[in-house]
Amino acid sequence: MSADPDCIFCKIAAGRIPAKKAYEDEELLVFHDIHPWAPVHVLVIPKQHIESLDAVGPEHHALLGRMMALAPRLMRELGVVNGYRTVVNVGRDGGQEVPHLHLHVMGGPRPWARG
Ligand code: 5GP
Ligand code: ZN
Repeated sequence: MSADPDCIFCKIAAGRIPAKKAYEDEELLVFHDIHPWAPVHVLVIPKQHIESLDAVGPEHHALLGRMMALAPRLMRELGVVNGYRTVVNVGRDGGQEVPHLHLHVMGGPRPWARG
């Protein structure tokens, strides 16, 4: 599976940087954001290095579907009952800080720190 040795999320996927995991399978990893905007804030990442939504091709469509479809299950398991947000930041003007594709999933009672 492709990995970028300098990528922080590849390092988390490889277990070389610790993270609080919420879900894992062969293709995907979910962990809690280190600076949460909301009471529950997790990041869904593919284990393979894909730089951003801009780098997604037809070969990734099923993977993207799985990332999105995981959100309701995660929120249920993490006790979120009144709805949640999903966000994908893309590129510099999109506010993407980590160049490894990730889906933010945020929920829990408001007010939130951001978003
Ligand atoms: P972006 O701005 O790229 O959409 O979001 C990147 C997110 O990754 C940010 O919300 C940031 O707090 C989170 N993040 C960055 N580095 C780490 C890390 O080492 N561990 C964890 N758990 N989250 C991180
Ligand atoms: Zn990566």
